[in-house]
Amino acid sequence: MTVATTKTHDALKLQKAKEEALIIYHELLKKSGIAITDEDRKTLFSVDLGGTHFPDEGLGSIDLLRTSRVRVSIILLLPGQTLPEHLHPSYEGEPGKEETVRVLYGKTMLYVEGKPSDNVILPKGKEQWYTAMHRNTLLPGDQYTVQPKIKHWFQAGPEGSVNMIFQNKVDETRNLFFDPDLKGCQVPSGLKFQSGAF
Ligand code: ZN
Repeated sequence: MTVATTKTHDALKLQKAKEEALIIYHELLKKSGIAITDEDRKTLFSVDLGGTHFPDEGLGSIDLLRTSRVRVSIILLLPGQTLPEHLHPSYEGEPGKEETVRVLYGKTMLYVEGKPSDNVILPKGKEQWYTAMHRNTLLPGDQYTVQPKIKHWFQAGPEGSVNMIFQNKVDETRNLFFDPDLKGCQVPSGLKFQSGAF
């Protein structure tokens, strides 16, 4: 295969993986029992963060609320799926994003900086981009607030997870991912919410 056809092949493979994941994200959403409109449901999409390791790294997302000051969204993770390590920096007088995760379904392991936990499972081939190794295990009803400038990442347990995310609105393009392959979160054109990363 030429380089061009390999690229096309990879793009098709990624597209297929995202479509398959979307079906599971919808099932997870249903299992969470959250009341949601058909209109909101249509905005659920698979996010590969511009990387090459979807579905190992990635997420499903719905924005429920985005004003000039507040953002509430749902993050869905497939079984074992990881939302890669990043932080929310301060910039131009903005102290940075404060992000609270509340689990609605399944189990989410939220890793932050601190005393390393045992048995941390990192996405294969991406180990070097993970340094925050202190695990907080969150079950339905549990919530945890990540302060600005703290490195963190999320990983679902074996059933996947559904999480509500409360956050102050910031310029999402400022979020820092450490893996240079990752470009942040893409939002498909035509959606009411533009740009963004987690
Ligand atoms: Zn975050």
